[in-house]
Amino acid sequence: MNTSLPRVRGLALAALAAVLANACEHQDAPERPSIVLISIDSLRPDHLGCYGYAPPTSPTIDAVAAEGVRFETALSTTSWTLPSHAAMFTGLFDSAHGLFENGLALSPEHQTLAELLKSEGYQTAGFFGGPYLHPTYGLDQGFEYYQSCMTQLADDLTPEQIRDSSRAHFGPSHRDITSPRTVDEVRKWLTGADDRPFFAFVHLWDVHYDYIPHKGLIELFDADYQGGLKTQGYMANEGVNPGMDPRDLAHVLALYDNEIRFTDDHIKELLELLEWKADGKENLIVVITADHGEEFFEHGNKGHQHGLFDEVVKVPMVLRWPGHAPAGKVVGEQVRLIDLLPTLASAGGAPTPAHVQGRDLLPLVAADQPVPKEPALLELLVAPYQARLLRTESFKAGQASFAGRPGVDFGYRLDSDAGEHAMLGGDDSDVKRALDGMHRLVRGSQAINRELGAGPTRVKVDPALEKRLGELGYVDAAK
Ligand SMILES: [Zn+2]
Repeated sequence: MNTSLPRVRGLALAALAAVLANACEHQDAPERPSIVLISIDSLRPDHLGCYGYAPPTSPTIDAVAAEGVRFETALSTTSWTLPSHAAMFTGLFDSAHGLFENGLALSPEHQTLAELLKSEGYQTAGFFGGPYLHPTYGLDQGFEYYQSCMTQLADDLTPEQIRDSSRAHFGPSHRDITSPRTVDEVRKWLTGADDRPFFAFVHLWDVHYDYIPHKGLIELFDADYQGGLKTQGYMANEGVNPGMDPRDLAHVLALYDNEIRFTDDHIKELLELLEWKADGKENLIVVITADHGEEFFEHGNKGHQHGLFDEVVKVPMVLRWPGHAPAGKVVGEQVRLIDLLPTLASAGGAPTPAHVQGRDLLPLVAADQPVPKEPALLELLVAPYQARLLRTESFKAGQASFAGRPGVDFGYRLDSDAGEHAMLGGDDSDVKRALDGMHRLVRGSQAINRELGAGPTRVKVDPALEKRLGELGYVDAAK
């Protein structure tokens, strides 16, 4: 048992001390590791020190990577919050879990990572900072304890209010600062947690736009900015546009970095609490990842949920498990968010359901045993976009249509064109071959969804409100 308590505020100290005293009565070391899965919304890997970024955005994440394994190329299933978290929780691509549109909820037919670990005796707790993780969308399946950490939106919102906030570009969730409350809520939960190993899922929201300057942090990234750029209402803000002054764009990136550092500082606090509860680092598996990336006009857009270029589908992924994951190891093979379910289920002693599309990465991590090379299926199925791509380590090909127009086949050779600027046409033989594989994977995913009887499950929304939102011009493009 650690002898020093992590930094604890206020009245929680007494309750935490009581838990500590109680825990000390149990001398047996836990047989199974506790697990924390941290998902940082909208975080690009190439803005982290451990992925080669120079500004000081991520000392905590870098330390976790140095003590564990870093995956060089990790892929989401899409470029927005709701389906990517469903993929993380089910080990399935979006066409298989079926939660690819705002207005849908995760079917109860799925077995989530939290459910699998709970059935093996884990206590399960989830904490979220953004509206798409609200129980309205069904992502609370399997969590004994599931807590909103939003501060601009009440905890007891109706489904209509949640959906409204999810869609509106000026939604109060974008102005929210949630990391401090997240740390407080995790601390509060720990005071009531028992001695079973735990699985904690923590969704951290603050890296998501709007980018809010934090005193003492923005100075680390852009101390001498004299311009007058304001970034409130980021997505609708016409001052943030592809033709903007490069100095102002540099300031936007600095604001993004300042949010990453703000989040990283709170992860430090979270890990201190969770390591203490797990009775030491060696009993705690830490995974830090993201739901998708973010684009800054590399292909003309800002934000995310507009396409499937690498800047929005690549995510960071680091895994620390002392004694099992060699410190400082870098895995070069492409991995995917859907691989987290089998990996963490396996670490927790839970069998992975046969239909799961992800694979257990532990043999690769722990013993350098090769795992089969698997492509990533990337999908964006939200009107007016309909796009699917297959991504391997060296090639990307797919089909996209916009606003109901006929689909276009295309591809990119990532090994010679990592920036995805030299588009190959649908008549390229490599594109054709990749598309065959993509269509097979899509059909297989849709078959899994049918066989599970897992969709679509609609969020219950008042039809009159839905009509009004449509008339007001809201589009499904807020996340
Ligand atoms: Zn997101």
